[in-house]
Amino acid sequence: EQSTPMTIDALIVGGGIAGLWTLAKLTNAGYRALLVEKSALGSGQTIHSQGIIHGGTKYALLGKMTNAQRQIAGMPDYWRDCLAGNGEMDLGDVTCHTQAQTLWALPQLSSRVTGFFASHLMKSHVTKIPTADRPPVLQHHQCQGNFYALNEPVLDVKSLLMCFANRYRHHIITDAKWQLAHPQADNACDSTFDNNCASDNDGDGNGDYKIVSIKTANTTLTVKAAHIIYTAGKANASLSNDTANQQIRPLRMVYAHVPKTFGQLYLHVLAASDKPRLTITTHPYDEQTNIWYLGGHVAETGAHLSDSETITLAKKELTAIFPWLDFSQCPFASFVVDRAEGSHAGNRPDTPVVHSDSQTIVAWPTKLAMAPMLADAIVAMVARLSPTNPPQTNTAHTAPPTFATPRIANYPWECN
Ligand code: FAD
Repeated sequence: EQSTPMTIDALIVGGGIAGLWTLAKLTNAGYRALLVEKSALGSGQTIHSQGIIHGGTKYALLGKMTNAQRQIAGMPDYWRDCLAGNGEMDLGDVTCHTQAQTLWALPQLSSRVTGFFASHLMKSHVTKIPTADRPPVLQHHQCQGNFYALNEPVLDVKSLLMCFANRYRHHIITDAKWQLAHPQADNACDSTFDNNCASDNDGDGNGDYKIVSIKTANTTLTVKAAHIIYTAGKANASLSNDTANQQIRPLRMVYAHVPKTFGQLYLHVLAASDKPRLTITTHPYDEQTNIWYLGGHVAETGAHLSDSETITLAKKELTAIFPWLDFSQCPFASFVVDRAEGSHAGNRPDTPVVHSDSQTIVAWPTKLAMAPMLADAIVAMVARLSPTNPPQTNTAHTAPPTFATPRIANYPWECN
C-alpha cells in the first residue's frame, strides 16, 4: 500500500491517440506523466477510425486548396518518418496497411477535379495510376474513370495502440477508476465535480496540485498532479464541466465480410463534394474473408438512418460502384460512433483544439493524423503554465510495476 502520494507533472485522462501521443511527448520531454484510461486503450473513437494519415488532399476534393489542407499537409511525411523509425516518435513496430491510397474519380465527376489533381500544386501528393497498376479488382472492364495514387499511408490502428502501450506501459493505467479528492476530506469528490475543490494549497512550496486517487482491480494509488489533461474524447465536456467548447458529429460506420478475392482496397470513390462518396479500408479477418470498412458519405448519411437503412444504402452503393462484384452473400453490420471535436459551428475544425485554465487542459485532436500537432500544443501549454517547474530529467518516477499490462480495445468486428 502506497504511503505518500506520487507527485507528477501531468495526469492525462483518456487513452485514445490524443492521450497516448501526449503521454509520449511529455515523457520524452522529461515531464513526469501518468495516463488513466477507464477501459481499454483506444476504446473511444480511435479504434473505430480508418487509420488514414491525412495530408488534407481529401479536403481538396472540390478542386481547390483549403485551409484545412494547408494545416495538415506535412502530417503524412512526419508519420512516415516515425513509421520508418527515423522520426520524433519511434513507430517502427506499427503495421502500415499501405503507403498510398487509391482515388477513383468516376467518369461523371467534373473535369475541374481531375484537372486539379493533375495540376502542379497536387503533383507531389497525387499521381495518375496506369490501368495495369490499379488494384486487381479495379482492373475489370466495367471499372471506368480516372485513378490516382494518393501519397498518404493507412495504419493498422490496433498495432499503433500496442506500440504506445509497450513503450510507455509503466505510465499507463487501464481499467482505472479515478477521482479528484479533497486533500483534507475523507470523502472523495465525484470525478465530474468542480475541479477546484481538489487542490493542494499546503504551502509546501510545490504550488497547487490536484489530488487524484486511482483504483484498479488490484491497486490503489494517490497522485499529486500539477496539471490534469483531459483527452477523453466525448467525455471531455462532462469532465471539464464545459459543454460549450465541444461538438459531436456522429457517423454510422458499416463493415462487410467480403471474400478475399475482392482484394485489399484503400480507396476513396470521389463525388462532386468535399467528402468522398465512399471510403473503403481493408482489414484481414480470417482465411477466407477480409473486412471492408466503409466510411465517407454513406457513414455521414447513415448517422441519420437506422442500422438496416444504412446497410441497405451501403449495399446499394457498393453494387452501383462495383457492378461486377456480388455482395449478396456478404454479412454486413453497422454501428454509430460520435466524433468529438472542439466547437467549430458544427463543421470539422481545421486544426486540433486545446483549451486550458491554470491547471486543467482539455484537448481534441480533430483527426488521428493530427495527434502529434495536438501533443506539441499541449507540451507547449504545460511549459507555459508552469515556467518555474521545468521538466525533471527523471526516470525513477514511473508508476509502480504492479500495474497490469495495458489493455487494448478490439476492432468492432472482433467483438462478437
Ligand atoms: P478517443 O479515441 O475517443 O479516446 C478517448 C478515451 O478516453 C477513450 O479511450 C475513453 O475510454 C477514455 N475516457 C473517457 N472517459 C474517461 C474517464 N472518465 N476516465 C478515463 N478515461 C476516459 N482520423 C484520422 O486521422 N484518420 C481516419 O481515418 C479517421 N477515421 C475516423 C473514423 C471514425 C468512424 C471516427 C469516429 C473518427 C475517425 N477519425 C479519423 C478521427 C479520429 O478517430 C479521432 O480524431 C481520434 O481518434 C480522437 O482521439 P482521442 O484520443 O481524442 O479520443
